[in-house]
Amino acid sequence: MRKRFIAGNWKLNLTAAEGVALVQGLAKTLPTDGRSARAEVAVCPTALALSEVAKAAAGTAVGVGGQNCHWEEKGAFTGEVSASLLKAAGARYVIIGHSERRQFFGETDQTVNKRLKAALAQGLVPIVCVGETLPERDGGKLQEVLTRQVKGAIEGMQASQLESLVVAYEPVWAIGTGRTATSAQAQEAHAFIRGLLTQALGVLATRVRIQYGGSVKPDNAHELLSMPDVDGALVGGASLKLADFAAICAAAYSDTPAKAAP
Ligand code: PEP
Repeated sequence: MRKRFIAGNWKLNLTAAEGVALVQGLAKTLPTDGRSARAEVAVCPTALALSEVAKAAAGTAVGVGGQNCHWEEKGAFTGEVSASLLKAAGARYVIIGHSERRQFFGETDQTVNKRLKAALAQGLVPIVCVGETLPERDGGKLQEVLTRQVKGAIEGMQASQLESLVVAYEPVWAIGTGRTATSAQAQEAHAFIRGLLTQALGVLATRVRIQYGGSVKPDNAHELLSMPDVDGALVGGASLKLADFAAICAAAYSDTPAKAAP
């Protein structure tokens, strides 16, 4: 049984004070009874706010993650943040290879691979993002893109190193656009990713959590989470609003998410 995992990607938003307030409010909405074992929740603030937010989250059910990490631990890398610094600041997770990093900051499958190794070496739980652009989907290249990105991310690594791996399937055309993949489209991509992981990692692939990301909102979270291979969500815009993010988390903790409409 895979524990559902909802992570909020705050991107370049929220001061430390705003993030602390959001986490304090969110923590109060999360179950403390038997349902608490059903899901895991995290927020990923800017590197600048991470330490304060992690202090506010300590002792609550909210974990904290970074949005990126460099592959070197320290040195002459102006403007970068390392996995060890994230960990020291209180992070348990780190997002790697987000499409915005790929699109605007030159991220490649090779650099994703290096960052993943660095994150794992520090014991951080990596959230590796993959997903196709609209031209790639329309051009029938979905499987080719996912294969390249997934294989590229874990290239040269053993299953035993990847026990904590989380993959986020984020179709680029659904990020921040209000356009969500249908639950059937999400399931199809997630099942394909799990197949790739099975080829590479064997039985461990059944334990890897695959999040869906792309305009997840309170009104579509239940349906997406009801898909057999959708194990959680990576949430951008809606994670900045307490009521919306709390509602998405509540869907993950619920026992019987609504089934997709026939
Ligand atoms: C994201 O950036 O990871 C994301 C899924 O954003 P949004 O939920 O705003 O589409």
